[in-house]
Amino acid sequence: MMTNILVVLETRDGALRPASLEAVGAAHAAANGGTVTALATEQAELDAAVLGSAGADCVLISDVATHSPDGAAATAVRVAKERDANAVFLSATVRGRDLTGRIAAALGTGFAADCTAMEATESGLSFTRPVFGSKALLHVRVNGPVAVASLRGNHFAPAGRDTNAELESCAAESSQAQVLSVAAKSGERPDVSEANRIVAGGRGMGDAANWSMLEAIADKLDGAALGASRAVVDSGWRPHGEQVGQTGKTVSPELYIACGISGAIQHLAGMSSSKCIVAINKDAEAPIFQHATYGIVGKVEEVLPALADAL
Ligand code: FAD
Repeated sequence: MMTNILVVLETRDGALRPASLEAVGAAHAAANGGTVTALATEQAELDAAVLGSAGADCVLISDVATHSPDGAAATAVRVAKERDANAVFLSATVRGRDLTGRIAAALGTGFAADCTAMEATESGLSFTRPVFGSKALLHVRVNGPVAVASLRGNHFAPAGRDTNAELESCAAESSQAQVLSVAAKSGERPDVSEANRIVAGGRGMGDAANWSMLEAIADKLDGAALGASRAVVDSGWRPHGEQVGQTGKTVSPELYIACGISGAIQHLAGMSSSKCIVAINKDAEAPIFQHATYGIVGKVEEVLPALADAL
């Protein structure tokens, strides 16, 4: 079925966030000859070639300086109607999650949250989303007039085609709330929810000072982020922004190295969809090994320096 899809992009400090290109790629794959329109909810320098290559036919850039949750949702709803969109996609980031519900409610439809796969069927789009800490997969079809969905990072890919998108300015709807500033954490490592490689530590690291061993590994893996279990965050060893799991962030990197992490169900809920999981734990019976692609039974103090050397 031919489907017109609106993708709500996410920008920060004028630059597009990588997850948005994945959402555009997912839209291109699902559109089946329909039009893919991308909407930036605040002014940004966007690249017609990059967005066109990812799968966008047309890119609308709102004429407001900064993002507004209610304004962005209202603009997206108007554009979805103007463009006869059958579906609206967003990234399942903090901002995307905020907008997903607002847009679905205003369109009088339902939404599928945090999807990891989708299929275009004769009767419309069918979405897959992991539930109960990825113990089960739910297949969701939205019965409303427009299917709204948020897509989990690292599960969809930009189309990679040789086409430029058309860039246009777009009038933003008025808003009652405006984001004045975003206080980003300091440091040069990527956010754990966006990184392709994550080196994570648990209580078995022993002490906050031992994170230098994880940093040494992350430094060798270009663009790797640091992650942590809740036990570590509760102990004050690492900031909450690095926590992975049910009450932390959900991640799906290519590589997740879990060091001194037991593999509690609440931790697995946040990382078990990682493509390759390497577990380092001194206890061969630790539950994390049941989910690991590769397991190393040993003490982090011995294994991590050897791993850093080998890398
Ligand atoms: P532990 O379970 O104590 O495991 C430490 C591991 O390190 C052990 O397997 C041990 O064998 C190993 N070890 C010890 N010393 C060494 C060494 N020298 N070398 C190698 N290995 C060693 N947890 C999260 O992580 N994220 C969440 O979002 C989260 N949300 C929660 C929400 C709720 C409602 C609840 C109830 C719990 C939540 N938890 C969460 C907590 C979770 O249940 C676990 O308590 C937590 O994940 C354990 O962290 P850990 O694996 O670091 O520590």
